[in-house]
Amino acid sequence: MHHGYRAPADFEAVPVGVYKASTVLFPNVAAMRSRKWVDKSAYTYGLHGTPTTFVLEERLATLEGGRHCILAPSGLAAIGLVDLAFLQQGDEVLIPRNAYGPNASLARHELARWGIGHRFYDPMRPQDLADQLSERSRLVWLEAAGSVTLEFPDVPALMQVVRSFNQRRAEVDVAPRPLIAALDNTWGAGVAFAPFDWGVDVSMQALTKYPSGGADVLMGAVVTRDLELHQELLMTHMRLGLNVAGNDAELVLRGLPSLHLRYRAQDAAARRLAAWAQTQPGVARVFHPALPDSPGHAFWKRDARGAACLFSLAFEPDVAPSAIDAFCDRLTWFRLGYSWAGPMSLCVPYDMPGFREGPWPYAPTLVRLAVGLENVDDLQRDLAQALLCLRTA
Ligand SMILES: *Cc1c(COP(=O)(O)O)cnc(C)c1O
Repeated sequence: MHHGYRAPADFEAVPVGVYKASTVLFPNVAAMRSRKWVDKSAYTYGLHGTPTTFVLEERLATLEGGRHCILAPSGLAAIGLVDLAFLQQGDEVLIPRNAYGPNASLARHELARWGIGHRFYDPMRPQDLADQLSERSRLVWLEAAGSVTLEFPDVPALMQVVRSFNQRRAEVDVAPRPLIAALDNTWGAGVAFAPFDWGVDVSMQALTKYPSGGADVLMGAVVTRDLELHQELLMTHMRLGLNVAGNDAELVLRGLPSLHLRYRAQDAAARRLAAWAQTQPGVARVFHPALPDSPGHAFWKRDARGAACLFSLAFEPDVAPSAIDAFCDRLTWFRLGYSWAGPMSLCVPYDMPGFREGPWPYAPTLVRLAVGLENVDDLQRDLAQALLCLRTA
């Protein structure tokens, strides 16, 4: 809610004004020639920022403990911006095996066409990241927690691998291009996880989720502390013509003041439901970083200050996939739909054998639940009545 930036306008209200413009008028040629938008000291064209988008950027940078922020039209566009700003032909990007699917898909299809390679690493084994690095490595993506199975990695250990690699590179190379670490902080949302505390270079967030909180806008943010990295991102962003509309920026600005309250409320509800779900027949395993047997629980406990509204259910191997579909269909408060962190609880089934490599000792369908802002007793009753499907099928 509070931040250092003051828009150069003489109207101060609690909400930020919604400015919309393509053209910004200049009083004379000298002003047209001299105005610089890059440091937010002036306005030149709608695409280069308005008072509304500059304020949102400042607030998000403050929230994340960074210094600079750039907005993108979606979370995925923000991932693409980071890739395109830092990678060139011949480089390689490293992606955790449990990453948000479209991040990997972008690398497999778009980046590959530009001669940029990618490798996957096991985020739960820092040594695997070390083993995958090569002289072509330029960018490492991190995610805490993983998108669907919610493993919480040892981010300090992964960052130690990045730092050692950069030190070795600096010793042998006269003009080293350091390996950059970017963390998808959508889960932590600037509330539960602070990537810059661990030396991460770039924090990216889907504002679509918590910061908006309304399930009514798509937007992404890329936050940095380092000015040079920010400027590289800013130039790529400008050349690509990525824009965020004033009305959409307003929706996120409206969501931000209640971000912490919503995060805490949804966290408490999700933890209660996740712990309860563990006791239910047919449920083999519940993934939620706060549960002691969830992968990476100790790292979550050490490094995070809360948990997002997500938990995933893995079912006993003898539960038929049709029974799991019936469970999802029978839910009434949890609705079927993508995204999360909005007011409504949501449910998505994932086909795990197609989704990830390696053994999967449970029924093939995993169900990820996102807890909204409904009454938690209603949600528990809803899950209980839908889980009866597992017994009757
Ligand atoms: C939703 C999501 C994104 C992408 O956000 P969009 O705005 O939907 O493009 C990226 N990363 C994670 C972890 C997400 O959950």
